[in-house]
Amino acid sequence: MTYTIDGKTGPWELVIGLEVHAQVTSQAKLFSGAATAFGAEPNTQVSFVDAGFPGMLPVINRDCVAQAVRTGLGLKAQVNLWSRFDRKNYFYADLPQGYQISQYAHPIIGTGAIEIELQDGSTKTIGITRLHLEQDAGKSLHDQHPTKSYIDLNRSGVALMEIVSEPDMRSPEEAGAYLTKLRQILRYLGTCDGNMDEGSMRADVNVSVRKAGEDYRTRCEVKNVNSIRFVMQAVEAEARRQIEVWEEGGEVQQETRLFDTARGVTRSMRSKEDAHDYRYFPDPDLPPLVLEQSWVDQLKASLPELPDARRARYVAMGLSPYDAHVLTLEKETAAYFETVAQGRDAKIAANWVMGDLFAAINRTKTSIAEPPVKAEYLGTLLDLMKDGTLSGTLAKAVFEAMVETGKSPGAIVEERGLRQVTDTGAIEGIVAGVLAANADKVAEYKSGKEKLFGFFVGQTMKAMQGKGNPALVNDAVKKLLS
Ligand code: ADP
Ligand code: MG
Repeated sequence: MTYTIDGKTGPWELVIGLEVHAQVTSQAKLFSGAATAFGAEPNTQVSFVDAGFPGMLPVINRDCVAQAVRTGLGLKAQVNLWSRFDRKNYFYADLPQGYQISQYAHPIIGTGAIEIELQDGSTKTIGITRLHLEQDAGKSLHDQHPTKSYIDLNRSGVALMEIVSEPDMRSPEEAGAYLTKLRQILRYLGTCDGNMDEGSMRADVNVSVRKAGEDYRTRCEVKNVNSIRFVMQAVEAEARRQIEVWEEGGEVQQETRLFDTARGVTRSMRSKEDAHDYRYFPDPDLPPLVLEQSWVDQLKASLPELPDARRARYVAMGLSPYDAHVLTLEKETAAYFETVAQGRDAKIAANWVMGDLFAAINRTKTSIAEPPVKAEYLGTLLDLMKDGTLSGTLAKAVFEAMVETGKSPGAIVEERGLRQVTDTGAIEGIVAGVLAANADKVAEYKSGKEKLFGFFVGQTMKAMQGKGNPALVNDAVKKLLS
């Protein structure tokens, strides 16, 4: 079903293309040896190259190139063995060189694709147009002094991957699903940490609207949106604005806009600049970037398992597509699950991770990276259930005790005497006591009130403080009643 927004003149379709800036995970910047760690004191991670000093020469960081290639491979994209760096010229206070080194005509990565998953369980393929490497700019700080602006150049020269999609998305949901999937792939690859609140991933959101069957109309670009929720809201708000413009008899002008998160509307920032305004030309300080196929092949061979493959593998292990989806969303969750499932029943492991563990994480405000119960311990707990030491009820109690104390299941079982009673003689002794104390109910049972069977089981369990093996207790009650 096509997502549409209704205006006065009937339904409108949305067309969305995203340009994502993803900060490359690397020790050093794209063309200098300065560090890239987030949160350092202003201007403590700046080399002469990053500060745009005259006569400084950029030297390409091989690790950043490798990260871009790995990302391209993860996006099933064309890797261009020959690419080139261009200067994109513009004047801004946070750009000391007076230009950004970027890749314009010849990007390192060409066309690829991402498969997104939607709420209704369907999937859709979104085309990737290109990925190129470029430098980040510095940051202006306007709130540090009443009359002056300060500049922090720590980010100047940090490597970014700009990942451009085809205008293939048709709803806010699809835009959100695309960003979610892209971030998941980058995190699995370890090429970008995907932390949008730290600015490691930012999206420029291109939106246009049209009537069914039409060609694309003019688009606007909403710049620098820094959360997935805001991207979805910006798409909706910008589409509604454009619909109104068209329906009032106006014409949407191509321009750059900003999303006002407080008011939920987009505002005009500037008319869209065209490529020729930037006076692009090949950077004379940098030779073309030439890769060897054998190096690309090596990177390909060392790629980790990616989300789609991992999900398929979990389904093959017997998990439902939904469970496989949830367990692979974060690679830390997948790693946890695999430790628990290793050599054990995958479905039981999945139920414990998605049920009791997720609940405990929520309750204790922890995370899967620092879980309230170690994966190894949860695995041992499943073993204790399997070998009959613990019933399901006792296992839940041991799990809660693990959350509280951090101790191993073995230690908790010993300390608290939670071992399940499987001694049939002992169980029958207790059942006999229960039946003797309830002679009237036994008589009722024998005259046909069979519902009372559960009562005897319950009383026995109570007398055993929940530690009786449920199957054996059932057997014993049955035996002594007949
Ligand atoms: P620029 O470099 O000027 O931003 P591009 O041609 O590279 O322009 O396109 C940028 C983004 O705009 C891409 O993600 C593309 O998918 C998207 N886009 C292009 N045309 C449209 C359109 N009519 N509606 C929505 N998005 C569009
Ligand atoms: Mg753009």
